[in-house]
Amino acid sequence: MPKVYLRTFGCQMNERDSEQVAQMFVERGFTITPQPDDADVLLMNTCSVRDQAEQKALGNMRHLGKFRKRNPRLVFGMMGCMAQSRGPQLLEEVPHLDLVAGTQKYHRVVDHCVELMRAKEESEMDDLRRPIVDVEEEEGSQNTIRDHVAKAHGVSEFVSIMQGCNMKCSFCIVPYTRGPERGRPIAGIVEECRRLADQGVREVTLLGQIVNLYGRHEFPKIDGKSPFVQLLEAVHEIDGIKRIRFTSPHPIGYKEDVIEAFTYLPKLVDHVHFPMQSGSDRILKLMRRPYKASKFLEICERMKAARPGIAITTDIIVGFPGETEEDYLETKKAVETVQFDQAFVFRYSPRKDTPAAAMEDQLPERVKEERNQDLLALVDSIVERKNHAQVGTTQEVLCEGPSRYNAARLSGRTRTNRIVIFDGDAGRLAGELLDIHITECSGYTLYGASVMHPAKAHPALQMAETVGT
Ligand code: SF4
Repeated sequence: MPKVYLRTFGCQMNERDSEQVAQMFVERGFTITPQPDDADVLLMNTCSVRDQAEQKALGNMRHLGKFRKRNPRLVFGMMGCMAQSRGPQLLEEVPHLDLVAGTQKYHRVVDHCVELMRAKEESEMDDLRRPIVDVEEEEGSQNTIRDHVAKAHGVSEFVSIMQGCNMKCSFCIVPYTRGPERGRPIAGIVEECRRLADQGVREVTLLGQIVNLYGRHEFPKIDGKSPFVQLLEAVHEIDGIKRIRFTSPHPIGYKEDVIEAFTYLPKLVDHVHFPMQSGSDRILKLMRRPYKASKFLEICERMKAARPGIAITTDIIVGFPGETEEDYLETKKAVETVQFDQAFVFRYSPRKDTPAAAMEDQLPERVKEERNQDLLALVDSIVERKNHAQVGTTQEVLCEGPSRYNAARLSGRTRTNRIVIFDGDAGRLAGELLDIHITECSGYTLYGASVMHPAKAHPALQMAETVGT
């Protein structure tokens, strides 16, 4: 049975796409191996968001070339965002590469690999390389990311609901690598979630580059509700699904119906990851983010009113071209105002062929690094204070199974997405909602003990159940 080694770089979308590719290999009789020295096909799903991620993938793929000494008929492939943006150029950068498959071609990767393996089998030793580059747009490709690796399910799974993005933020390469927005029909997504629930999945995270703008070009509003809210309501109806997350929303699509959904859909968790990028209107404009900082702050306030105690996390870029000290201080002020529960702070790094890369006033690395460290210190102090405030409270935790770092203990997440470590029997508790009394906090992790099993329903859910019956 041929073996495939598949390494993934980048975001949750990439992880989900890799899972789809892995499932397709399994269906065709391959096995997935974590050992590259054991594999017949070596694949990398790549990320282009930062230069560092690209260099790492390139370095890794070059390094894997050493296995050709063992077997000159190995097949090497790169797929995903870097494959899309660099195309045939990758064949020059990695001389042993056989396959370059773009972001709309995940469903063709297995066919291409089988063809390459066959061609190598039939080739003379001096004519082994006949590379395939497949990066054209393909209609309907968003509907091909829908299968999950059989028997590999955890308690929580990603569900890809759309591909691409039309926003064209000036720093971002995604619209060039992932193409325009394309949403999957609601029925197909619901069917996928239902299948997952039947297999024991209790939490789904709906994925899209601008997830709350899902379906805006394909599907109509109904009763003033956007296709995204229609989808949330439909997934909410699935019995086995206990929690719904989504990532990442854009402020532009954060309309009243989305905020309102948090008041009547209790399975929506008490957490939203909401990228701000900057707190300066001038920089937001240069970033081509079509909202003002005050609008972003207002949405946060309305979310907090709709779902008291909600955790808001964000992404922020510091050191964008032309960012002055005043601009940076505006960002800092916004962080202090919102009191984010976590913020992923990135130093701006120019991406080839994006408008921001060509802007004048690129900042020195020293300034970017200083702002990065300064903002991280502020974020850390807020996060630490908020995490410590959890000690002594009781939180509803979805038990995910053994902890990654200590298999003797269990791990789960609160409704606000905080990790909690506690003791118990994984076989009995994985997939259960538990009330956990938080006894300790260290850094980003909480520790606690189960006080009740199963957890009482969330107050909003109790209300909805009463009303429903
Ligand atoms: S919204 Fe902006 S940052 Fe997000 S994927 Fe689209 S272009 Fe990139």
